[in-house]
Amino acid sequence: MEKRAVMSFHIRRKEREITDKAEMRQVLKTTKYVTVAMCMDNEPYLVSLSHGYDESKNCLYFHCAPEGKKLVFQKANNKVWGQAILDFGVTEECDYAYTCVEFGGRMELISDLSEKQHAMQVLVRQVSLNPEARLAKIKPEKLASTTMGRINIEYMSGKKHRPTK
Ligand SMILES: Cc1cc2nc3c(=O)[nH]c(=O)nc-3n(C[C@H](O)[C@H](O)[C@H](O)COP(=O)(O)OP(=O)(O)OC[C@H]3O[C@@H](n4cnc5c(N)ncnc54)[C@H](O)[C@@H]3O)c2cc1C
Repeated sequence: MEKRAVMSFHIRRKEREITDKAEMRQVLKTTKYVTVAMCMDNEPYLVSLSHGYDESKNCLYFHCAPEGKKLVFQKANNKVWGQAILDFGVTEECDYAYTCVEFGGRMELISDLSEKQHAMQVLVRQVSLNPEARLAKIKPEKLASTTMGRINIEYMSGKKHRPTK
């Protein structure tokens, strides 16, 4: 089959583009979940995942069941594309206000227990209202048998549309 040339796209509406990486990272730090697209044998799939963003490693951590469609896709092709959204809803002008970050990267499963502990801390501190109490209840044996993953972010773009009126 003929391979298409890889194309480079950019945000067309320059006034909506976020160029500051720190602003993009802030979206990944404050949202509760990301939606991630995957592909295997030319078949698309997507899942939403509650996540914790590790800024120093520029990666997202998540946990999931030990089996299922997304893990079959991940084994076949770990390249993913995802997005996180801050949704500000419809404005009085019937416009839609949002801040969105898209990212490309690789999804890996974590086997090392100390990384799982770190991943769980990052995740729970981001998504839970009472993180330290929740973390205190997670026993190492339980964590060892929990499936955890990481998305290593290789590319990010950001766009926001927040009408001023
Ligand atoms: C806000 C949010 C946060 C989530 N956080 C997590 C998380 O942290 N970890 C996690 O593992 N999962 C999370 N989920 C659920 C996740 O999106 C998947 O539904 C789930 O992980 C099962 O994926 P799977 O590929 O193993 O599906 P499987 O159980 O293998 O199911 C395969 C088939 O079931 C159907 N299916 C699966 N999930 C859904 C669904 N959500 N809605 C409709 N049809 C579905 C699809 O047709 C798919 O082909 C979250 C979902 C939402 C909406």
